[in-house]
Amino acid sequence: MTAGAVTPSETAQIGIEGLRSTRAIVDLDAVAANVRAIRSSLPASTRIMAVVKANAYGHGAPWVAASALAAGASLLGVATVGEGIRLRKAGIADQIVLLGSIAQGEVPEALRWELDITVAERRLLETVQQRVREQILDSAPRIHLKIDTGLRRYGCPPHAASALAARLRSDPLLQFAGVCTHFASADEPLERFTDDQLASFEAAIAELAREGEAVPDRHVANSAAVLRGIGCRFEIVRIGIALYGVPPSDDVPLLPGMRPVMGIESRIARVFDLTPGDCVGYNRTFQADCPMRAGLVPIGYADGYRRSFANGGWVGLNGRKARVLGRVSMDQIVIEIPGDADTVVGDVVQIMGAGVHGSGPHVGELAAIAGTNSYEILVGIRGRVPRVFMESNRTSAVHFAASDGESD
Ligand SMILES: *Cc1c(COP(=O)(O)O)cnc(C)c1O
Repeated sequence: MTAGAVTPSETAQIGIEGLRSTRAIVDLDAVAANVRAIRSSLPASTRIMAVVKANAYGHGAPWVAASALAAGASLLGVATVGEGIRLRKAGIADQIVLLGSIAQGEVPEALRWELDITVAERRLLETVQQRVREQILDSAPRIHLKIDTGLRRYGCPPHAASALAARLRSDPLLQFAGVCTHFASADEPLERFTDDQLASFEAAIAELAREGEAVPDRHVANSAAVLRGIGCRFEIVRIGIALYGVPPSDDVPLLPGMRPVMGIESRIARVFDLTPGDCVGYNRTFQADCPMRAGLVPIGYADGYRRSFANGGWVGLNGRKARVLGRVSMDQIVIEIPGDADTVVGDVVQIMGAGVHGSGPHVGELAAIAGTNSYEILVGIRGRVPRVFMESNRTSAVHFAASDGESD
């Protein structure tokens, strides 16, 4: 797999000039820089799984995956069978792991597209064993065993791991490829629970090894754990949010050299005056108390720019902070144009992150305004916001969906 080897059907047949002015700039060099920074913090033998579920946290999975693999990631993680198939159709032949549960009915497609399946109980494993005997496959499917050490979400209890491992090992048509767990609170540095989970995982692993059998690739660390140096000596680490240059929480900083991958910008569509007493937007929640200028910006909650950003939300405009006035509409917002600013239609508005024209709030600030985390803001950026992929300071691809659910 080479960087950028993405099928034409994945790339919108539209020039960057023809795009709407609201767009997400996805810096693929930043993906590479983030992978390299993580790589240099890990033991040489530890492999990086780039977690590109949910369309690579809203960034564009085929492009991010290709860049991450080219920069030193060894395998990919996704949540759904459809996400895995999309990557395969984009030409990615590398190992792809389904991180969570899948329905029994999804097993044939998962096998057909050579996606690693993660099992946590006998029922799913038996379905895989059955299907593998009915389908013609090029190679033995790779199966990972997930152990629940405290997240109480997906995974078998530690005491049940040996029996499942034995069943896996004894089937010549399957490869026992990995054993894993997932942390509940690795983004909270003062939380001792992570150590307890690690100890519980290691005890389960010792049990698997006691039977004299080789232990497959172990993977436990998410971004927060890796940034804190926990679980990095196992064979694989699973990197999601850090790949995108965003800290997992306020308490876990990124490593030197890491930077955000996605920024969102738009342009002023209209400049107009407000006189005292004028109210802006639905339900007239903002009222001007002095003469002021306002600008219309074509982004709204249908793009993933949430209604809750109205309360304290701001954008970057010509190097200044410009606050959002009144409610966020489905497709537009109105911002205050600071008194002394020389703003005209077409000026760039930095909605999120830093761009060449200045800085807007970073994703963590938007998350705080909305009362959520950075993850939810990123994955909430909708398909109708074109993704402009930048590589070596040039546009390498453009992609958008007219609406979510369309195009891919
Ligand atoms: C999403 C996910 C990850 C990545 O988590 P980040 O906090 O984004 O690094 C790792 N492992 C599993 C099982 C996941 O579901």
